[in-house]
Amino acid sequence: MRIVIVGNGPGGVELANQLSGEEITIVEQEKVPHYSKPMLSHYIAGFIDKEKLFPYSLEWYEKKGIDLNLGARAELIDRARKRLITSEGEIPYDVLVIATGARPREPALEGKEFVHTLRTLQDAERIKEQIEKYEEVLILGGGFIGLELAGNLAKAGYKVKLVHRGSNLLGLDEELTKVIMEKLECDGVEFYLNANALKADKEGVLTDKGYVNGKVKICAFGIVPNKEIAVKSGIHAGRGILIDDHFRTSAKDVYAIGDCAEYNGIICGTAKAAMGHARVLANLLRGREDRYDFEFRSTIFKFGNFPIALIGKTRGGGKWLDKKTKVFLEGGKIVGAVVMEDIRKAMMLEKKIKAGVS
Ligand code: FAD
Repeated sequence: MRIVIVGNGPGGVELANQLSGEEITIVEQEKVPHYSKPMLSHYIAGFIDKEKLFPYSLEWYEKKGIDLNLGARAELIDRARKRLITSEGEIPYDVLVIATGARPREPALEGKEFVHTLRTLQDAERIKEQIEKYEEVLILGGGFIGLELAGNLAKAGYKVKLVHRGSNLLGLDEELTKVIMEKLECDGVEFYLNANALKADKEGVLTDKGYVNGKVKICAFGIVPNKEIAVKSGIHAGRGILIDDHFRTSAKDVYAIGDCAEYNGIICGTAKAAMGHARVLANLLRGREDRYDFEFRSTIFKFGNFPIALIGKTRGGGKWLDKKTKVFLEGGKIVGAVVMEDIRKAMMLEKKIKAGVS
């Protein structure tokens, strides 16, 4: 079975890893091997060297028998001939997996040319250079990428401001938002909540609550799935590439996983989910029974010195189990939890909640 994977992010690389032994080709538009996006803010902050971003060497791909095509952009899927058309030529497939990920949502504000976004190593290098020059940063957006950046850069001693248009962080309630803010404020992050960015210039950003100074500006307003190759090839797409619970797209033998895929209105948006999709799809392609639970989300983030796990349903009325754990109940059962600092506990709770025994 010739399996062609478009994209060498965590979804694509994990799928190739799981299916090693099969005839695997990866097509990747970037010119570098797989690197860790969750570690980019650690790299920008100066906590790790660039080499540490690369978990797999080129030899690793070779040993695994993965044919890695770097610097090749997938353009179109010729479904009738079962060929992927790339910038470097055509590749025949039996199974094609689209794992093209996502890109940052562009800020819809005047002066967006003064604002960076962060997704790739190249973005990180650009931002790192600027931050080292100006030693201050203004982050727009209080999602997990904004908070990771804020935490790490403040921990590294940079002056950090974070502007967020809502009053709650990560969609959590007021109490949890307050705890996250207090932790990050201890490291020096200055928060501007309920502030809508209107216009950026060289020196900072004008919001509807006033002007906030910051020479280096990074916008983290969420993601836009890279669905274009599917759309161009006549494959059904909504916000992302539409898939069923077996990761099948509307085209025969074409699958989609990771940030580019949309299941029942859900775009997972984390590396953990992309790798989870890859593991389940690998089993399905090998004819084994498996299932991915799209409704159950669980991720551990580290905002500087502060690790936090969001498990299952984390909205609505919650109850504190202890100072570091808030749980969310439905019908007397724990269906979600936010666990701060104690990651072992978070992992235990995740297992229990998933198994429905808490
Ligand atoms: P991607 O990682 O986006 O990879 C897709 C690949 O496809 C890219 O390499 C792209 O170049 C390639 N590609 C796209 N189109 C084409 C084409 N037409 N032809 C060829 N190649 C193409 N997640 C977590 O779980 N925890 C975290 O702490 C965390 N922190 C993050 C911090 C940052 C700064 C960022 C940017 C992301 C973070 N994430 C985190 C999110 C996580 O990185 C993504 O969810 C994950 O990378 C998605 O994996 P993917 O394989 O679907 O797509």
